[in-house]
Order: sequence, then structure tokens, then C-alpha cells
Amino acid sequence: MRLRPRSLYPGNANLPIGGGTEAQIANREIGAPRVRQPTPELKLKLGRYPRAIMSKVAASTADCAATDTSMKFFKSKRVWKSVLACTTIAAVSSCSRGSISPETALATFSSDRILAHIRKLSSDEFEGRGPGSNGEQLTINYLEDQFRSAGLEPGNPDGTYLQSVPLVGITPDNKMKLTLSAHGRTLEPKFQDEFVAWSKRVTETSSIDADMIFVGYGVQAPEFHWDDFKGVDVKGKVLVVLINDPPVPDPSDSAKLDPKVFGGNSMTYYGRWTYKFEKAARMGAAGCVIIHQTDRAGYPWEVVRNSWSGIQFDLAAPDKNMGRLAVESWITSDFATELFHAAGQDLDKLIHAAAQRDFKPIPLGIHAKLTIHNTLRTLDSHNVIAKLTGSDPDLRDSFVIYTAHWDHFGIGPEVNGDRIYHGAVDNASGTAALLEMARAYKALPKPPRRSVLFLSVTAEEQGLLGSKFYAEHPLYPLARTAVDINMDGMNVLGRTRDIVQIGRGASTLDDIVDAAAQQQGRVVKSDPEPEKGLYYRSDHFEFAKNGVPAFDPEAGLEFIGKPDGWGLDQRRIFTAARYHKPADVVQPDWDLSGAVEDCQLFFLVGYRIANGTQMPAWRSGSEFKAVRDASLQDAGIPH
Ligand SMILES: [Zn+2]
Repeated sequence: MRLRPRSLYPGNANLPIGGGTEAQIANREIGAPRVRQPTPELKLKLGRYPRAIMSKVAASTADCAATDTSMKFFKSKRVWKSVLACTTIAAVSSCSRGSISPETALATFSSDRILAHIRKLSSDEFEGRGPGSNGEQLTINYLEDQFRSAGLEPGNPDGTYLQSVPLVGITPDNKMKLTLSAHGRTLEPKFQDEFVAWSKRVTETSSIDADMIFVGYGVQAPEFHWDDFKGVDVKGKVLVVLINDPPVPDPSDSAKLDPKVFGGNSMTYYGRWTYKFEKAARMGAAGCVIIHQTDRAGYPWEVVRNSWSGIQFDLAAPDKNMGRLAVESWITSDFATELFHAAGQDLDKLIHAAAQRDFKPIPLGIHAKLTIHNTLRTLDSHNVIAKLTGSDPDLRDSFVIYTAHWDHFGIGPEVNGDRIYHGAVDNASGTAALLEMARAYKALPKPPRRSVLFLSVTAEEQGLLGSKFYAEHPLYPLARTAVDINMDGMNVLGRTRDIVQIGRGASTLDDIVDAAAQQQGRVVKSDPEPEKGLYYRSDHFEFAKNGVPAFDPEAGLEFIGKPDGWGLDQRRIFTAARYHKPADVVQPDWDLSGAVEDCQLFFLVGYRIANGTQMPAWRSGSEFKAVRDASLQDAGIPH
């Protein structure tokens, strides 16, 4: 479960501490906040939420299914604006063939059952569900038993409910020495104070001995006609890059960022550190050094330092990650200024140049040398998967997938007398919802037309590793996976009038989510802080990155019967007191009626897609559209 941006929690400026090593937490957390910082004047001009939500597309791909009967159900259950809902549903519905009533299934969602699962999974017995631990064994056994007893089929085509996920832990030697030579001068930055470096290659040593080249933001984005490389061969070099997206001013108002390029004020994947390292590796570079800037990264140097100073987990790929860079690294902006100066360059000028479309890579005349010695440890973990085969022979080889990560931090440093990181909200709650979802689908009188998968992934807290593994080794073709619906941290505080959809505006999913929410008399809100890049920080992202449209919901904040601001206060309290700490346990005042309602919404979204003839699609301007188009093309699926 991701940490909400600190600006939403003015009372909690501290970063999470707790389970696992700092690096473990960091892999998850640091990946997070990327901020494209508007100037102070721009902030004033734009207010806090400068990005207008994309206008909805009138023609929807949301296919209907049984809207009439499900509407009856909702009419009978609660007061709602039926005329409005009917209109909306009619507008987004484009078929009626193969309709199946989801009414009975929807009515079976039980807050008692969800709570019982959460209690079990977050109990002392499960030891915080650390990957590779005894807690993992108990957890995956429990999930398998639940899926089996609910009548779901094994989700792995090999006839089991499990997918093995081999993990490796890499601890770099903290005595590493980086030497940088320019014009006869040699600089040796201090490890942790001025630089961090590591290698994801599963080898005992990894080295660079190469020239450095500044490549601006290190971005190649054909859809924005942006190419920082301009055909320059960077093979075997050490790239030096800036963090975040290139800040491109709006041609009609230079005080604003151009909303048509790199998402305007929203951060795109091109701005993330993961992209920078992946791109550098694809370009054949030996290493990549990111210049840290607090305002552009969105967090101070300490976060970088703590995140990459200890053990780091990754997938144990058969190629031992030899396709990754030999060295990945960050340096402080102060040290970068000094280094560039030593090389006769001016960092500020280069930063300015890098924001221009005509920027070309600049060899720095600096030679970098570093050898990292690693301590390696391997462990076996597992994703758990169940399946409900679709009822339509023409569509059953396509899929709706629900995901929730089962793992948490296991047993770790003691806090207030407790060493078990129970993860009741994060993410026993989502796992419980997944079990309940599977059971509800099974309760349908007839399965939907497409098949439905229920995937509980491991090692999310270590950097989305279980979902990454699934996306890289899908058990069913991703081109035929219509949607991922991810559940990470359910609402345990009662019913809300709203629900938040992270990444709203990027795909035709919006219309389907709107229709489902309207059936419930609720409203869908967009992420109040799109510039933070929250969409890139939970398991659904590994699907999106590989082209699968993905629904990333977050609990609403307008609680029925509670004063304004109560939801935000509660979230702030959770973040300060329990998030990623042993204290994330079941609380006596929990009210799971909101979780049930959210589950019903997620059910309706998946159900519509599972019965629809069209899969949701990314809208133009989404960075995932090109990947999806290529994937559909390869699979011979018209789009
Ligand atoms: Zn978490």
C-alpha cells in the first residue's frame, strides 16, 4: 500500500518507518513521489489542482450487462437518483446480449466474512506474511483453501493455485569507492553523503570504468516528439540524467506547463527513476547516475540515501539481471554542481538546455570508476491465483483480473513491544476483499462471458515484485487481459459518498467506473494530487506498464454521517500511527460497510467488462497506449 503524499497529511511530515529494512520500504516508497514543481507564481495561479480532468468521451466502450436487474437491486437497497443513473447507464451501455443478473452475487458480499479473513491473515500466527517465511506458507495455504472451498478453479494452467516467484536479495558493500576523473583532477564523493550506488545484477561484483555523458532527462517519447538521445551512441557509457519529466512550457502561457506534453502538471512514467534506469539499460549504457534535486524528486536526499544503502530485493531472473545496468546510482545536486564545475561545465545551464526539444547529449569529459561487491541471498515466494472460466466460448479466452498483494513486512524491528508487522489494512484487507470477490463471482447463476482471474501477488512491499513477475510471465496472454482491478488497502471506516480513481482520464475505464458508482448513488473523484505519480505505485501498474488498462481505486473521503474532513483526519492518523508499523492491526471501531460497498463497485466494474464485447482502451496521450496497441497487434486482435 502506498503512502499518500505528505501534503495531504500536514501533520505527518515523517516518512514511514517500520517493517523490513529501510531499503525494503524505500523500494516501495521512494519510487513514489515525483513532483513536477510549478513555480510559486504558477502555484498561485493554478491553485492546488491545476489539471482539468479530461472531458469524457461520449461514445463509451462500456458494455452493459444486466443493468436493469442490477438497477432494481440498488433501488431496493438504497435511495438513489434512478433517473440520472438510468440515463447514465443507457449512455454507457452498448449491448444487452448475454446479460446475467449480478443481483444475487452482489447481495452476498459480507462484512463479517471480510473481517474474519482480515483477522486471520493479520494474526500473530501469520507472522506478518513476509515473503519466503513460515508466514508465507500459512498465507498461501489459507488462500488456496479459501479459493478451493469457494469452488474456484486453480488459476495456473499447470493445475495448481500457485505461481512460483523466485526472489533475490542483494546487499551492496557499503565501503564502495567511486572515483571520478576530469582534467587531471580526481573527485571521490562520500558514499551515502554524496552518492549511492548499487547493481541489480545478481553477481558478486559489478563494475563500471567508463566515460560520462549528460543526456538531459534521458527520455525518448515518440508521442511527444521528444528524444534526448538524438541518435548519439551511448553504449558502454555512464549516463548522467535529471529526475522527473522535461518541464515543457505551454506555448500559449509560458508560466504554465504544456498540458499536451508529458501530462502537463501530472507526472508521467518518463519522469520516474525506474524509467531512467530501464531506458539507460535499453540504450546499452554501462551505468546511469541520476542527479537528485529535492524539488524535482519530491523528497530529500535522506530518502534516497536510506533507500539504497541496505539489502534490496528483486526478481531472480534466469539471466541474473545481466540486461540491467552494471551500476545504478544517484548523486546529490551539490556534488553534481562541483563535479560539472571540475569538468568545465555549468550544471544550471545544462538543466536549462535539457528542457529544450533540440537538446543533444553532452560528453562531460569525466571518467567514472567503481566496483561494487554484493552479498547475495535467494528465496522462493509465490503468487496465488484462482480462475472462474467464462461462459461464452468466443470470449472465455479473454480475461478480467482482480489483484491484491498478500505480503507485508513479516517480523522486523520492535515498535511498542511488537515485532510482527500485521498489515491488517495493508493488505490483509485487500486480500480479504479478493477472496470475497472470488466467492461472489462464483455465486453468480452463470459465469460472465469472459473468464475472471483472482491473483494474490507477493512482494509488493519490496517493489511490486510479484505483479512484475506475473506481468513478465503471464499465465494468460496480457493482450487478452481486458482489465486489472487492484485492491490495496480497503476502507475500514464506514460508507462514503465518493470513491477516488487514481489515473482518471487515461482510459475508457472512467465511463464504466462512473456508471457503477452512479448505480450506487456515489461519485467518482480524481486524484487530488496527480503530479505525485501515485498511479505508478501499486500492483496494477505492472499491468498498465505492459499495456493492460488498470483500475486503481482509492477509498473515498466523504464519510456518511461524519463531519467534513473526518476522513482525511482518520487517514492522517493511520499514516502516522499504523502505516507500515506493527500497529496496523484490526481496530475495535472498524466498520466494513464501506468496504462492502467498494467491493460491490469493483464487482460491477469487472462484471461489465467481463460481459462486454469490447475491452477498455487507453486514450490517446496515455503513455501506455502504444504498448497496448503493439500487444493487440501482435496477438492479431483488432483495435
Ligand atoms: Zn505497504
